[in-house]
Amino acid sequence: MMIDKVLDIAQELKQELVEVSEFILENPELGYEEFMACKAHVDLLKKHGFEVEEEYMGIKTAFKAVYDSGKPGPAIAYLSEYDALPGIGHGCGHNLLGTTNTGAGIALSKLLKDYCGKVVVYGTPAEETSGAKVEMTEKGAFDEIDIAIEVHPSDKHYMSGASLAMQAIQFTYRGRAAHAAADPEHGINALDAAINTFNNINALREHIKSSSRIHGIITEGGKAANIVPELAIAQFYVRATTKTYLEELVEKVKNCARGAAMAAGAELEISNYEASYDNLVTNKILSETYTKWLREVGVERIEGPRESFGSLDVGNVSHIVPTIHPYFGICEKETAGHTREFAQATKTPLAYDSMVKTMAAMVLTAVEVITDKDLLARIRDEFNSTRK
Ligand SMILES: [Zn+2]
Ligand SMILES: [Zn+2]
Repeated sequence: MMIDKVLDIAQELKQELVEVSEFILENPELGYEEFMACKAHVDLLKKHGFEVEEEYMGIKTAFKAVYDSGKPGPAIAYLSEYDALPGIGHGCGHNLLGTTNTGAGIALSKLLKDYCGKVVVYGTPAEETSGAKVEMTEKGAFDEIDIAIEVHPSDKHYMSGASLAMQAIQFTYRGRAAHAAADPEHGINALDAAINTFNNINALREHIKSSSRIHGIITEGGKAANIVPELAIAQFYVRATTKTYLEELVEKVKNCARGAAMAAGAELEISNYEASYDNLVTNKILSETYTKWLREVGVERIEGPRESFGSLDVGNVSHIVPTIHPYFGICEKETAGHTREFAQATKTPLAYDSMVKTMAAMVLTAVEVITDKDLLARIRDEFNSTRK
């Protein structure tokens, strides 16, 4: 039976994947510095017969690995990540995230000769900072792809949900230095402009959609209390449920800074200090297909769609290709992400068993998409209808 065959293939790959996941867990590397982790994935994919393009699109720790059946058909993408967090290592579990998505790609490749199409595993660096998927999407990395699946470890299994669109905005205010006590009337206080931007934004908060988020810091606010600050820099993340509302909100936030700069008499420069993330749009038909297979391979408890107030770079992919980003459960009890506890939870027998089942569901989903033309057509129709 198909389910047993796929589970057997996933089970056979388990030990190799465990080794890679634990190596990456013990050697955490930050975004765009994931050289060892990237190599571990590339070596494994090459060993299993994938054609690998390293330093994909000029990004040193990105790759594209392809296994083609040689017969025209759907292109299935799995997205791997392997970056860690400063100080707490793999608190987001990207060590296990990477091996589960790469593992699904390898498992599917073992079946592909019986079908058609191809499987592509993408190595996508720096999800925690300025995610590479943004640049990869802009440069057309996913244009040939029919469906994209990325699974993320969590304490419980959740269906694919949503995440917020996000812009990272920096305000640089330039004033004029002067002796703050002896000569204040000749100074232009750049810090006042930054502080008043926060005050303006706090007033704005009362009149925005409650699902939005605006949060910021001051990274530069003067050098000494007896010098009128000539330079101030503030950085904000602005988030909203849709790209359209985000653009509207960002303009209002910029006006808060413009007004504050004008009041202080400072010059204002506006820039994006990190890549902007789009909101995640889950393809519901693809998500239902995946959830069905997850139940079939023996996962009983699956929570509803996870609506995240964070932002994910896979959001950008979901505006180009029908995409799902479900979470797979690896913990006995509730465990928060971005903690040392969660990093440790990625190396338990429960986590590895969940990895195997999750990979099997990912592969069975792909096989159904490859063999059922009508299913792919319905997935595409939904994608086209949700596109703005
Ligand atoms: Zn993560
Ligand atoms: Zn994270």
